Amino acid sequence: MAPGPQFNLDHDVTYGTVDQITPLVQRVTCENPSKFTFTGTGTYIVGDEEVAIIDPGPPEDAHVDALLAAIDGRTVTHLLITHTHGDHSPAAGLLQHHIDAPTYAFGPHPLDRPDPKASNDANNDDAGFGFDPIEEDETEANNDEDDGYKSEHAHDWDFAPDVTVAHGDIIQGTGFSFEALHTPGHISNHLCFALREEQSVFSGDHVMGWSTTIIPPPDGSLNSYLASLRLLLPRSEQTYYPTHGAPITDPATLLPALLAHREARTGQILACMSDGIDTIKEMVLRMYTHVPPQLYNAAAASVMSHLVALHEIDEISCSDAKPKPRSLYNLAG
Ligand SMILES: [Zn+2]
Repeated sequence: MAPGPQFNLDHDVTYGTVDQITPLVQRVTCENPSKFTFTGTGTYIVGDEEVAIIDPGPPEDAHVDALLAAIDGRTVTHLLITHTHGDHSPAAGLLQHHIDAPTYAFGPHPLDRPDPKASNDANNDDAGFGFDPIEEDETEANNDEDDGYKSEHAHDWDFAPDVTVAHGDIIQGTGFSFEALHTPGHISNHLCFALREEQSVFSGDHVMGWSTTIIPPPDGSLNSYLASLRLLLPRSEQTYYPTHGAPITDPATLLPALLAHREARTGQILACMSDGIDTIKEMVLRMYTHVPPQLYNAAAASVMSHLVALHEIDEISCSDAKPKPRSLYNLAG
């Protein structure tokens, strides 16, 4: 593959303190680091005497207390939510015990809360890509890799916005205004918020500088994600603030690199199929020779997101009505 996007892993944070990023923008980082959140959730406070809060974070009292201290008596007029994953929206409800500001978001979580009484078999039916179990090093981290976006706390099932936001809406505060950009892909209700006063974009999990974006099934959509990247290409903002990691100062380089990375991967997968490789497992073993077996399931999930995307546009056929981890995949026609 061509060299991938240049990621920036250089991001020192002090949890719970206020980072003054620009005259209008502050950030308080929650102490919830993980392989999905990098150094944690960065909650932004935007404005002067009246402020908006973007992505309040997970439901952790210490973070809510740090945000209330950072607000320091100012009036919060807006709680903006990029999307309803558990590290982004749940603290909005906790903040509303202390402040009187409505939440703004595209909508509630797009999926129904899984029924805890449903048999595990129904879930596990789709879970396995057929790799040999990893016997040694069965650490908590490895379990995370499998659970990831399947785990209960990864989602905010309860959230419903006070104000529903559509693509192109202008959210007007005192001293700040945002253009809402609907950017589905990571999740179908994802919004980015362009701050018009500073020509910057709060990019949530859609564009991050430290990692590619996970496209978790069944709501995540690679085709939507690529369209949402292309939506940003012609925009003029030169600074992006992702919810995780450092600000992005070269979106004009990063966005095309992210697109090229996915297009190259799609090309590799099509090449697998033209060589008669028809299972996700075999595709991973051919393409990911450089990654340890502990990451095979994550790699397989990524390959599957590409196969789902190719199946949606009828470029490939699948042995099941809907792509599954152990389906057989072939070039269409
Ligand atoms: Zn997310």
